[in-house]
Formats: sequence, structure tokens, C-alpha cells
Amino acid sequence: MLRIYNTLTRRIEDFKPLESDKVHSASSGHTVGIYTCGPTVYREVHIGNFRTYIGADILRRVLIYNGFRVVHIKNITDVGHMRRTLDNDEQIDPIVQEAIAKGKTPAEISQHFTDLYLKDEKKLNILPATFYPKASEHIKEMIVIIKILLDKKLAYEVDGNIYFDVKKFKNYGKLSGNTLDKMENLLEAVRVSVETDKKDSADFALWKKADDDRLMKWESPWGMGFPGWHIECSAMSIKYLGESFDIHTGGEDLIFPHNEDEIAQSEGASGKKFANYWVHGGYLLIDEEKMSRSKGNIYTIEQLNKKGYEPLAFRYLTFMTHYKNKMNFTFEALEGAQTALNNLREIVSKWKIIKTKIARPPSLRSGVSGQGCAEYEERFLNAVNDDLNIPQALSIVWEMVKSDYPESAKAQSLFKFDEVLGLELENAKEFLKNKREEKIPDEIQKLIEERNDLRKKKRYILADQWRFKIRKKGYEIQDKKGGGTVVKKI
Ligand code: AMP
Ligand code: ZN
Repeated sequence: MLRIYNTLTRRIEDFKPLESDKVHSASSGHTVGIYTCGPTVYREVHIGNFRTYIGADILRRVLIYNGFRVVHIKNITDVGHMRRTLDNDEQIDPIVQEAIAKGKTPAEISQHFTDLYLKDEKKLNILPATFYPKASEHIKEMIVIIKILLDKKLAYEVDGNIYFDVKKFKNYGKLSGNTLDKMENLLEAVRVSVETDKKDSADFALWKKADDDRLMKWESPWGMGFPGWHIECSAMSIKYLGESFDIHTGGEDLIFPHNEDEIAQSEGASGKKFANYWVHGGYLLIDEEKMSRSKGNIYTIEQLNKKGYEPLAFRYLTFMTHYKNKMNFTFEALEGAQTALNNLREIVSKWKIIKTKIARPPSLRSGVSGQGCAEYEERFLNAVNDDLNIPQALSIVWEMVKSDYPESAKAQSLFKFDEVLGLELENAKEFLKNKREEKIPDEIQKLIEERNDLRKKKRYILADQWRFKIRKKGYEIQDKKGGGTVVKKI
């Protein structure tokens, strides 16, 4: 059984789907609903964001591996959050700012970065969400919830601004631990709020009145305005997954205030428990600092690619740290992941695989098949079901790959494991063949010859710099023992 850490209860719990009390046929499996806070599309999504999305993808794949069906909703935030920087008291709508700076409409900006995001997701082999609802297309649904909250006196209006009245929601703080009494100090310390018309500094905006010159604004019963930061996720999760659903995911920075406020809005309006399990991933750090757009210390998948690293190597890299722990990004570690992935492909591509025609029914996919390496299959399943312990699962993969089991059996198990890992190992042979067959451009050929000269002159440090130059242009070289060089496109 899958066990998963739930931020809400601060414990690792058995995963029980909401539908478990409903009648289902054994083979169809229960359907699990997952909502993932999706990207804000005013700039490229960085690899820190992608660490979180790969985490959600692993969770989804592990659920499928356990025989569940999954409906996965990932929203696109194309309505700018109002984010306040600590040194600047203005409310910033990043999508609008970016649009003004580039002379484009906010819709053009967000579509451009949504397309880029989806391309990167594909390169990282993240399973596409069942649906990617856009915040800008769900303003009506947000207004419906705000109206209910006003009717229930959980929210109040001040001159076209609507705020959630945190004091009226007794469970406030249950996710983050930031209960009202604790928050007094917190708010005082960082002065989170610039809204002087609120009853209480802990209250948060559901709807904001728009100035005349604001680009993105909508009609509402309270005049022209735009939604607060959190209401979009309540509206879209409830619309597509229902008032109560199974799992909500995000990075750890979303726990407070975003997810806490989602609970307040959603449970306040429906009177029902919102998400059953809250799964949050740890940060990707760089030089031990959180990777974030505001700090400018980000890398994108494209930038890694240009430096010669495959998106799947980054995917592999994320497997080496448990999803809940912080992970420091370095190019040495990425290099290690790329090498490990290349080695795995090399090994797999040399296996003689005799395909058996006995197909397993889908419901038994996670069971021990008897055709692969049963002992490793059992250990792999236990590892992934132990709060998604992918680092351990990966070491089991390597143990199995190096074991004495027949190659066909190893292949059978490995390809099954890859349903969780998503490294496209079944295509390893073809992938390597395609790489080898690609013509090496003259420019690369010339660099290789120059490097060979440097090596002959024992100028190894310079030769290593040439290797790096070649890699930057997308080619990996390997010196053969008896002389000569193997060149591969990365
Ligand atoms: P944003 O576009 O800023 O709303 O972030 C999208 C997702 O990425 C959210 O789930 C964040 O929690 C997550 N995230 C942002 N920065 C990082 C980071 N450095 N490491 C891991 N996840 C992050
Ligand atoms: Zn969200």
C-alpha cells in the first residue's frame, strides 16, 4: 500500500482514495483526483519549479503503478498574482508588467510562456495533465465562491475590495500551523499586508477593485476588479475535482499563505473537507539558496540543454534526493546524472531481450509478475510506496541491472520500473543508434582534432577545456582505451 507524508496531519499515512467506499469493478481501479498548483506564465518556468512538477508526476505514476486511475488537474496562472516585494510596497501584477515591458498583450505573454512550459514538460517526460485550466477563463467560478463567502459572512466588502475574514474561520492555520495567535507576530514582522482597509492584518483579498488604467480586469457584482492570489485554485479544483478530492500538491513555499487560504476559502464555502492529502516538495537550491525568479539565480531546461545536458538527465538528478528534502543544484551533480543515465542506456541496449507474449492485466501491473526479477520488483514497489522513496528505488534498479538474472528478465522488470521513473529506457537502443548515426559537423570534428593534438602534447588541462567546448555544442566525447575517440550527440 502507498504511504505518503501529509502536510495536513504532519504524518506519513496510508493512502486511501476518497472513492474507496464506492463500488468499483476490481480491474478498473479507483479514480484518484490530484490538483497541482501550476505555473505562473509571465516568464520561463525554471528547474526549481520543475523539480516540484516532476515530484507530482512521480506521485501520479506511482498511483497508476498501484492500479489507480488518476485525474490530474494543473492550473495555468495567467492572471498575475499580486506579489509584494519587501522593499517595495506596491502591488505588482507580473503578467501585466511583462506585457507592458514587451509591448504585448498579457494574453500574448501568457500564451507564449504556457507553450514553452508545455514543451519543457514533454521533454522532461512529465505526463500531461488531464486538463490545464486557465485562471483567466474561470473568473465566473471565482465570483460564485466569493458570493457564497459573503453570504455566509466569512468575507466582507470594503469599497469594491473583498476580504476573507480569517477570524470567522475556526480552522485557519491547520495546514501551516500559522494559527491567528501565532500570525500576529508574523505579520508584524514582515508587514505582509499593504491593504489598509482590512479589518485585520491576517485577512486576505478575494477580489480587488481595479484602477481605470489596469489592463487585466473583469466585471463583478462589486464593480470592475480582479481576483486575489488564492481564489483561482479553489475555483478550478472544485470545478474539476469536486468540493472534496484526494491530493493537492505544490512546493513547500505554497503551504502558507497560498494553500492555507485555499482551504479557508474552499471549506468556508462548501462546509466540506477540501483536499484529503497535501503533498509538498522541498526546494531546489543553488549555492544553498532557494532558486527563484526574484533572486535571478535560475536555470531553465533550455539553458541546461545548451550546456549539453538532456532534460531527462535533470529528471534523473531529481531522483537522487527524496522529494521532501531540499536539493542543492550543481553542474557536477547534473554531470553525474547524465553519465548514469547514459550508462544505463548503454547497458540496456546491449541486452538480448526475448519478448514474451504473456500480457499482464493492468490491475496486476504492480504485483510481482514471476516473469521479471520478482525479488527486485517487490523491493522496488516497497520503496516507491514508502513515501515515494525514489532514491532507494533507483539504487534497487542499479542492483538489479548488475545482478545475475537473465537479461530478458531484467529488461522485463526494468521497463516496468520505468513506468514510474519515466526515463524512456525501452527506447535506449534506438536512442543510442540515432545518436551514433547523426553526422558529426565539421566544426566539432575540428575541435576533436585540436583536442587530440593537445593530448598528444600532454596539455591535459587545455584538452579538458576543449572537451567542455565540444559538450557546450551538444557533443560528448569518450577516449577509447586503444586510442581514438567516440563522439556522441547529447
Ligand atoms: P510559481 O510559478 O512561482 O507559482 O511556482 C510554481 C511551483 O514551483 C510551485 O509549486 C512552487 O512551490 C514551486 N517552486 C518555486 N520555486 C521552487 C524551488 N526553488 N524549488 C522547488 N519548487 C519551487
Ligand atoms: Zn494554487
